[in-house]
Amino acid sequence: MSNKPRSPGRHFLQIPGPTPIPDPVLRAIDQPVIDHRGPAFQKLSKRVLEKVKAPFKTKNPVIIFPSSGTGGWEAALVNTLSPGDKVLMFETGQFASLWNTMAKSLGLKPEFIESDWRIGADPAQIKERLKADKNHEIKAVCVVHNETASGTTSPLQEIRQVLDELKHPALYFVDAVSSLASIDLRHDEWGIDVTIAGSQKGLMLPAGLGFNAISQKALEASKKSGFAKSYWSWADMLANNANGFFPYTPATNLLYGLDVALDLLEQEGYDRVFARHRRHGEATRRAVVAWGLEVLCKDPKYYSPVVTSVLLPPGHDADAFRAIALENFDISLGTGLGRVAGKVFRIGHLADTNDLTILGALSGVEMSLELAGIPHKKGGVQAAINYLAEQAKNPSHKLAAAE
Ligand SMILES: *Cc1c(COP(=O)(O)O)cnc(C)c1O
Repeated sequence: MSNKPRSPGRHFLQIPGPTPIPDPVLRAIDQPVIDHRGPAFQKLSKRVLEKVKAPFKTKNPVIIFPSSGTGGWEAALVNTLSPGDKVLMFETGQFASLWNTMAKSLGLKPEFIESDWRIGADPAQIKERLKADKNHEIKAVCVVHNETASGTTSPLQEIRQVLDELKHPALYFVDAVSSLASIDLRHDEWGIDVTIAGSQKGLMLPAGLGFNAISQKALEASKKSGFAKSYWSWADMLANNANGFFPYTPATNLLYGLDVALDLLEQEGYDRVFARHRRHGEATRRAVVAWGLEVLCKDPKYYSPVVTSVLLPPGHDADAFRAIALENFDISLGTGLGRVAGKVFRIGHLADTNDLTILGALSGVEMSLELAGIPHKKGGVQAAINYLAEQAKNPSHKLAAAE
């Protein structure tokens, strides 16, 4: 046992994933292990494999790997492409950069549209690159839906329209690790070929499940893919899943949790879930503006309903600030990643969150700004209160929250 005194109350885990786990999900995970080749498992897995299509808005199969989200990236690439293929990626932030690095190390040739991490993937720049690709050498366009490092959300539909307009045959891959079940995403309707997700963000589970929702076109491409693969092979997975089983030991207890998490989302209603995230994103940004600080995302078109990255004034270390917040108020704020390390901190406002959670988190931030001696104006929490109270007056606020 440590000598540190106990922190009463609950810890404020305000990082943009992993997110706090609702009690019913924790209870569901806490069950005896069962035989993953037996009938009880088969029943569970058949039910979950069907139910998990809902957040992706797909009728196609969704593959569930016992992996983190990063595994989902790799599975998407190695199942559909061949070594030496060109892929187009947009530098929205650290996660796009890591996916780009992975593509290179696998032997793909990524064309990386560089950016300053302060906007989402820009359809106009993507269009320009695809237009120049007369011989259709680009085999896939890879977009991070919600860039968790920078707090930007990319317009998936607009990018689909660019592909359609140019009649470009590239596959369309979307990293939805931090957007699934928090921001609307329509795998089938928006013509996404592989949607990649993970369990520990909007789905309110521990880390350990990686998802690939796949299209018919991606399935066709997988039959011609030239990459060697084994663990990540869709073919083995799909063949086994057809009977409710997996080619290797699945994360059974996380599937119990997923079963219940999907029920909770269904009960709230996905449109309400999305509206709640938009509302909390707006409340958080209003607080940041009132403090006189700067939101890293510089174009409202790309504001994230999931996470807000906040720039500190030059000369102030964001990690020292985060340490003060943790020490004094038992709140974990997200660290700045990669090129914005030390310059930004992140406030996660996703998953199992309500108005008072957000106000508690913003209070922790405002008090910590004071303790850390960071120049700011008072009234950020008040600005968020004003906005949320105003929203609550509107009987339909739960669906109609302002963008
Ligand atoms: C968290 C995250 C990942 C990485 O997922 P892991 O589960 O850590 O492997 C990838 N992309 C985005 C956008 C993320 O937020």
